[in-house]
Amino acid sequence: MSSKRRNLRKMNNYPSLRLKPGKEKSLQRLHPWVFSGALAQDIKHTPEGEIVNIMDINGAYMATGYVQHGSIAVRALSFQQETIDSSFWIHTIEKSLMLRKTLGLFNNPNTNCYRLMHGEGDGIPGLIIDYYNGTAVIQCHTSGIYKQLPLIAEALQKVLGDSLKAIYNKSSETLHGTVENAVNSLIFGQPESNIVKENGVLFKVDWETGQKTGFFLDQRDNRQLLGQYAQGKSVLNTFAYTGGFSVYAMMNGATQVDSVDVSKNAIQLLEENMVMNKPDAGNHKGVATDTFSFFKDNDSLYDIVILDPPAFAKSVNARHNALMAYKRLAMEGLKKVNPGGLLFTFSCSQVVDSEMFNRTIFSAAIENGRNIKIIHRLTQGPDHPVNIFHPEGEYLKGLVLAVE
Ligand code: SAH
Repeated sequence: MSSKRRNLRKMNNYPSLRLKPGKEKSLQRLHPWVFSGALAQDIKHTPEGEIVNIMDINGAYMATGYVQHGSIAVRALSFQQETIDSSFWIHTIEKSLMLRKTLGLFNNPNTNCYRLMHGEGDGIPGLIIDYYNGTAVIQCHTSGIYKQLPLIAEALQKVLGDSLKAIYNKSSETLHGTVENAVNSLIFGQPESNIVKENGVLFKVDWETGQKTGFFLDQRDNRQLLGQYAQGKSVLNTFAYTGGFSVYAMMNGATQVDSVDVSKNAIQLLEENMVMNKPDAGNHKGVATDTFSFFKDNDSLYDIVILDPPAFAKSVNARHNALMAYKRLAMEGLKKVNPGGLLFTFSCSQVVDSEMFNRTIFSAAIENGRNIKIIHRLTQGPDHPVNIFHPEGEYLKGLVLAVE
């Protein structure tokens, strides 16, 4: 539907909530969150997921969003007074797909997996959709989005057409108990394949029992960068999950690749991914253990070390301890780097911004005592866009350090 036609649609008649005086700046700047303290009324009795219009103190329209009980009380879905119906969802998914087409990710024979919807980055707080070679895996992070799931699934089928074979709903973990009886299940079609191709490299994705939606698509470009440096090098990939960085290293001529992850299932899938790409990869070792124990028990040095831990801080309160953990990890990781080697170090904690992360790595480098240079500053791939009005969306930070 063209935006022109959309503008002619009648205004919605959702119930409205008013902001306290002076609390309208954030929505005026198109930031999609309304904190409970900004609302002039109590929403205790407004059901979660209810669609509402947010008005300023004078009753002027500001945004349409859904209610959630918690510190973020309303998440905006639109800044126009429109109805959140099937045509809204079709239009929304069309816009997201258009960006992925611009990025060259749609119908790309070398990369048939990408993030189609990235929450606030694509204008829809609480909604993640990853596309894996025909199967869309949906992760709802709020009960408000979960309520919209039937419309979202229908819109996906309309917009993706033949390139969509199945939809898997993987929301039970991310709803944190806010929806009773939420189960993960196939909600449309039958998956044709769970093997995806990323920059020509094959990966088996287990969206049912794997972490998040099954694969960490945000590291695609960074894995390719690692590949560029891997020729003739020994590589240690810690927090390896199913081997994203490890397989790229091997396919690009690494002489030895060691992969460490605490999850046995991840290491098992990693071994399968390695063999699928390189049946004779004898120079790979997968170790199911804690990274810090591995560092303690092994004294080999490597030309390239990768540190890609899970988010150490999920909230601002946990930030201090997380920064200490990033520092300790970088210190230990640096000790494993051969002179002249590289350290790839990442943080995916949203509450740790790039300045804090840089400072943390800086203090680890001081402790290491060698000359260290930053050669790349990395972030999430472009199919994980950051809404410019919601800078919190820039969550993945990485540095590549050259260690003398
Ligand atoms: N680099 C990966 C993604 C890493 S996700 C990729 O490109 O696909 C983080 C991983 O860290 C998860 O697989 C999780 O099982 C693992 N993990 C969490 N705590 C760990 C620990 N203490 N030691 C080793 N691995 C750990």
